[in-house]
Amino acid sequence: MPNTSCLIVTKVLRLNLYKYVRAHRTSKGSGTSFWADPWCPNGSILKDLYPRLFALETQKDCKVSDRWKCSSGTWGGNWSWRLPPRGRAIDDLLSLECLIGSLVLVSDGDDKWVWMGDASGSLKVKTLSKSLQNLLLANDLIDKHCLWNSWIPRKVNVCIWRASLDWLPTRINLSHRGVGLPSAICPLCSNAPEEIDHCIIRCPRAIAIWRKVWSWWNLSTPVVFPSFSIQDITAGRIKAQGCNSRTNKILQGVFYCTIWSIWNWRNRIVNAESTHVDSVMEEDIFPSIQRVSKIWISARFKSLEANWSCWIPRPFDILLICNVFFVCLSS
Ligand SMILES: [Zn+2]
Repeated sequence: MPNTSCLIVTKVLRLNLYKYVRAHRTSKGSGTSFWADPWCPNGSILKDLYPRLFALETQKDCKVSDRWKCSSGTWGGNWSWRLPPRGRAIDDLLSLECLIGSLVLVSDGDDKWVWMGDASGSLKVKTLSKSLQNLLLANDLIDKHCLWNSWIPRKVNVCIWRASLDWLPTRINLSHRGVGLPSAICPLCSNAPEEIDHCIIRCPRAIAIWRKVWSWWNLSTPVVFPSFSIQDITAGRIKAQGCNSRTNKILQGVFYCTIWSIWNWRNRIVNAESTHVDSVMEEDIFPSIQRVSKIWISARFKSLEANWSCWIPRPFDILLICNVFFVCLSS
């Protein structure tokens, strides 16, 4: 059983991959944990399905062949209880025997795991990837509050997704997890606790960068700036008025690049030698955001309509179709 990888997927992504992995039933049963492996017809794990019975079990790591035996031509339970089941535990035992009642073990043939996501029964990375994608989207883990932007790198999308869930290791998050730090104050301004919204958006040094991005894209500035959150960006609630959906996807890519760049900048400041902290702090990362976002997006969005020469002066006119639209309106 690929327990480690399954646990990573189960714990980190909160997905139940066990539904795709099943023990081969027509085997000896000596390599399959009776209580802990998902070998049943419906993929259930028996210790979770019957916790009262599991509490009474004397040998928690027993195998299927230990608990299911053939006697006088009839297959049945070979139980070993710490105390005789009583009350609802008896109902559980009847239910368990009904669930696995048709099980017949064979004397030859080793236990093996079958990947239910593919007709061949063999694990293929392609089908695993597809299953994960379907499960993620089905659970709204990504698409509800954090749009996946296919025009920027995957590692950046993951970073943004973690930021939207407040899973980045800010000083506040680290101190909440018991990591001993000399200070939980923002390393950029030394003036407020380093929470995720402060670090990425509300820190005065971050605001200076966001103002440049706003000005570059000619976005209307609210009375109080910044009046947006990371979730406003990741859910696609900030748009360039008058531009089509593809231009707004480019804009969102720029936002993602900005978040990524601020977080990287913050990390370089935190990890810099004391003699270099000031020089890293004084860097202007805005030109890098303009340059890197163009490299990332142009590498993935190969549209003939894109006019990359206007990327710096008029990024909102990047798509020629947008220009045509404006020309038609003005003529
Ligand atoms: Zn700050």
